[in-house]
Amino acid sequence: MKKLKLSMKDLSSLPLLYKEKKYLIRISQLRQLFCYDKRINILVFDSLYQLANYVGSELPKWVIGTNFKNNVLILDYNIWKNRHTESFSQIVIHEMVHIIINEITRYRCPLWLNEGLAMFFANQINNESIIQKKNLASISLLDLSYNDPNFYQISAYIVLLLIKRHGLEKIISKINYKTNFLQDEIIGVDCVKQIAK
Ligand SMILES: [Zn+2]
Repeated sequence: MKKLKLSMKDLSSLPLLYKEKKYLIRISQLRQLFCYDKRINILVFDSLYQLANYVGSELPKWVIGTNFKNNVLILDYNIWKNRHTESFSQIVIHEMVHIIINEITRYRCPLWLNEGLAMFFANQINNESIIQKKNLASISLLDLSYNDPNFYQISAYIVLLLIKRHGLEKIISKINYKTNFLQDEIIGVDCVKQIAK
């Protein structure tokens, strides 16, 4: 029994995941698409302070989940369920996508692509993510970072347009085959110019 290493916190997250069957299916889809069968742990924390201690660095106040190596780190659902529209499962899947992409590409995947795909798989792209195509033209993928107040919105929208144009599997194959992310003909630095047309 020692080997199980389960705490009450870990167990309490199981019903939350099982409650939303569509996200359980999504997890197996993710594993298939990325050919990823390694173990991913879900660790539940009682406070942001505890979580920050675990990763060894300060975290912004708005963080409710993050990832570290092959661990999804997430705050107890009771702490944030009343101030977020997303579910526990959505945050878990979002972080799982980051873990998988980071490992496959050895952290070489551009931030916007990584973030946009995580939002896509976690069903976090909504109408607010839709931005005017004419506003896209001025965006430089190389400069896109978390410092941009619209970073999530822009990343989600570009990824959505790419998926519509080329299909999800094509985009995933770029990750799986570790393309040259800067020069790729579909997702390279010039991709925004193409999809803004
Ligand atoms: Zn993310």
